[in-house]
Amino acid sequence: MAVNEDVFKKVISHAKEFGFVFPSSEIYDGLSATYDYAQNGVELKNNIKKYWWMAMVQMHENIVGLDAAIFMHPSTWKASGHVDAFNDPLIDNKDSKKRYRADVLVEDHIEKINGKIDKDIKKAQKRFGDAFDEAEFRATNGNVLRRQSEIEKIKDQLKAVQENEDLEAFKQLIEDLGIVCPVSGSKNWTEVRQFNLMFGTELGSVAGDAATIYLRPETAQGIFVNYLNVQKTGRMKIPFGIAQIGKAFRNEIVARQFIFRMREFEQMEMQFFIKPGTQEKWFEYWKETRMKWHKSLGFGDEAYRFHDHIKMAHYADNAADIEFKFPFGFKELEGIHSRTDFDLSQHEAHSGKKLRYFDPEINESYIPYVVETSIGLDRMFLAILSTALKEEDLGDGKSRVVLNIPPALAPVKAAILPLVKKDGLPEKAREIMSVLKFDHNCQYEEKDTVGKRYRRQDAIGTPYCITVDHQTLEDNTVTIRDRDTMEQERVTIDDLANIIAKKVSMTSLLMQN
Ligand code: ATP
Repeated sequence: MAVNEDVFKKVISHAKEFGFVFPSSEIYDGLSATYDYAQNGVELKNNIKKYWWMAMVQMHENIVGLDAAIFMHPSTWKASGHVDAFNDPLIDNKDSKKRYRADVLVEDHIEKINGKIDKDIKKAQKRFGDAFDEAEFRATNGNVLRRQSEIEKIKDQLKAVQENEDLEAFKQLIEDLGIVCPVSGSKNWTEVRQFNLMFGTELGSVAGDAATIYLRPETAQGIFVNYLNVQKTGRMKIPFGIAQIGKAFRNEIVARQFIFRMREFEQMEMQFFIKPGTQEKWFEYWKETRMKWHKSLGFGDEAYRFHDHIKMAHYADNAADIEFKFPFGFKELEGIHSRTDFDLSQHEAHSGKKLRYFDPEINESYIPYVVETSIGLDRMFLAILSTALKEEDLGDGKSRVVLNIPPALAPVKAAILPLVKKDGLPEKAREIMSVLKFDHNCQYEEKDTVGKRYRRQDAIGTPYCITVDHQTLEDNTVTIRDRDTMEQERVTIDDLANIIAKKVSMTSLLMQN
């Protein structure tokens, strides 16, 4: 645990030092759980958006995009259930005065038991060596079985208190499990209360004329209220999808872990409109398709797992998360939800407008069902940054820090470096830059030794460094250094654009989707 916390701290300080993420309004000591994306961060973020957009919209004939307003008619949130049900159960520790999400306290307790199981397994692995069979050990070892059944029991209890919205029983569960406040170490808890996560604000400039409106807590509703507009104007036939990238706002009870949980964040969501009765098939399809999108980044299959929900959101009949192995453990990165016809039916009822689709194949009108995929852009950013950051031992007491970001997503694709700041080398380097910049985000750097410049580019994940030296002036060749292998090759300037394009193209990622 300590080692991973160290890794996480390094990620945060690297993000700051190398221009990826800054605390918001830092000169005023920042605003809690709010961050700004800096010069390299915004490039990485844009590239993630592009990869998602291409995979979802450009690669699917039947998916189109949308960019809806953040402000929506207040009835939207009444209809969607967010006004009444978008709550989290909160609990305070009276000694530390720290506030927690009650469900998270219980889930963390479960994780602790899981940690004990992992320890048992590691011990046994050591003892039995190659002969160790983990599946058999899990199925037969008394300790593991006991712990597993304890977990199942707690999960059932959690599900029950959540479904019955029984806040007293929720508190009782926390007490029965002996959960202590991580800060004060005490069990001195307040009652559990429900807390609505939507930010309200006022619309209208005249006093008394104002109506409460909300900052959207998800982008999805902008898609639902527009679905028929898009279907008609785009002549879309079911099944079809609408994709959107945009900001969402939630007044999270506990917002921490850097950009993992923020109060202002960005979502990339796609709502797929389908014929009722086909939701199971499409739910499975999107689970698998989204998992492939993640795995094509090459971070290793073991970094991902599915987590099926035990408690459905108020709108869902099936839900699963894709969890990622962050430095602080497996946590939700993306949600795939089968939302039935809940949202569209609700909007029909509240607006009085028909939101039905006429299906020419069966000559009937119906309210489509929806399967959605919903990923947090900032969490995706954190997943990439924390996995890509490596400290490599180069031998002879030397080391380097490198960001192994997939080249297609790297903020800067090539750095152009004159070996020295004289003899016409800077001019030649600028000449190369003036050609490459039309296709790629390039950086020109002439300060410090070339070795130092390589290190700086490694630290922001630049796949290629191009060095212009005296030989360049004679034969129009440069050296090109690969970030990962650190090998250098001499190539002609005319070949550069192609070499870089091949390495940084999104095509190979998309082909694996
Ligand atoms: P969690 O259980 O972690 O609060 P959630 O289940 O409420 O998340 P969804 O409503 O399914 O999340 O939202 C879809 C995605 O939006 C999540 O998978 C996550 O990546 C992202 N997301 C949700 N809340 C936040 C937040 N506060 N900060 C950053 N990203 C978020």
